[in-house]
Amino acid sequence: MKLLVLNCGSSTLKYQLLEMPKGDVLAKGNVERIGEEIGILKHKTADGKKVEITDEVFATHEDGLNRVFKLLLDGTLKSLDEIKAVGHRVVHGGEKLTKTCLVDQSVIDEIENVYPLDPLHVPAHVLGLKVATKLLPGVPNVTVFDTSFHQTIPEYGYLYAIPYNYYTEDHIRRYGAHGTSHQFVANRMAEIMNRDIKDLNIITCHLGSGSSITAVQGGKSVDTSMGLTPLEGLCMGTRCGDIDPAVLTYLGRTKGMNIEELDQLINKKSGLLGLSQISNDCRVLEDAVAEGNPAAKRAMDVFNYRIVKYIGAYSMVLGHVDAIVFTAGIGENSPYVRSEVCKKLGLLGVKIDETANDCHGKERKISTPDSKVEVWVIPTNEELAIAQQTYALVTK
Ligand code: AMP
Repeated sequence: MKLLVLNCGSSTLKYQLLEMPKGDVLAKGNVERIGEEIGILKHKTADGKKVEITDEVFATHEDGLNRVFKLLLDGTLKSLDEIKAVGHRVVHGGEKLTKTCLVDQSVIDEIENVYPLDPLHVPAHVLGLKVATKLLPGVPNVTVFDTSFHQTIPEYGYLYAIPYNYYTEDHIRRYGAHGTSHQFVANRMAEIMNRDIKDLNIITCHLGSGSSITAVQGGKSVDTSMGLTPLEGLCMGTRCGDIDPAVLTYLGRTKGMNIEELDQLINKKSGLLGLSQISNDCRVLEDAVAEGNPAAKRAMDVFNYRIVKYIGAYSMVLGHVDAIVFTAGIGENSPYVRSEVCKKLGLLGVKIDETANDCHGKERKISTPDSKVEVWVIPTNEELAIAQQTYALVTK
């Protein structure tokens, strides 16, 4: 069965066509600069064919998806009727959309209620849903929420210590993010260990331009570092992560910064970029650290330290730890970050094998045989996870 996975942003559309249940990728790509003067479409098929379109306009997401369909019909598909379902990534499901679901009007209405919680991403996902429904009439659409994996976090873990009515009336609480990725790598970890996930405590570290850590107990998320939005927790590419909230009121009072300026500061100008004043890209900073650049070192030290702190906290939350997983752009590709972090986890009995750790983007055990906790690099695959959940639902 052929499934299409869509991930729509405000001016982007990422897609993969997969053959399920095997999970083979038949074609994938992304459309960028939708609504701008000139768009970009990068498309790749399983047989290695690559197409790059840089001279066309994609005024809307519908234009973009129509262009993708044309490419798919040029060799990959005979007819669009072969697409039997569409799985959509939705970053926020709020409190009510706690499970992967088959989309009907009531689901769209509920997703629209979530707009205030994530005005940047969620409206774009709904746009994607509407376009897919229009261009593929009668084909089931399934939504997979980044937040649903974290709905098992207990109340004392998701509540903020502010007046309770802000939770009951305004739904302010921890929702977390990257749930599909954390769940995917935790399940894979259990598979690799040949153990029932119900018996395992795993700490999953999704380290990319956005980064988060999750404590997974018996296959369920019991705490995660991101909060109401993907800003809380670790130091990220351009996001500040944990911060004393008073920093914002202080800057508002002393510098007269308004909400928009503060929002930009903590989301776009902070993290690795803000601390180093060099780059938000971990690769660039690692090279600079190797050349002895103190600003890059300062930024990477904060980045690594926060990860250690969260792993420490989640070890206590879990009681004991069976495995730690590193995933996403930095987690999969940075021996430096993994080494710096694992060196500080002696109290847990973690011992890293530096030779094994010298790897990029590969599934590999990086702890020594006598390490008390298994440490692994497991590449994440959110598209496959979405396709698997979509397939499971439409074939039920
Ligand atoms: P993601 O958001 O998961 O795509 O991850 C993006 C991040 O991965 C960027 O900050 C890159 O700096 C980082 N990254 C990619 N490749 C490497 C690498 N070889 N070494 C260190 N960081 C990397």
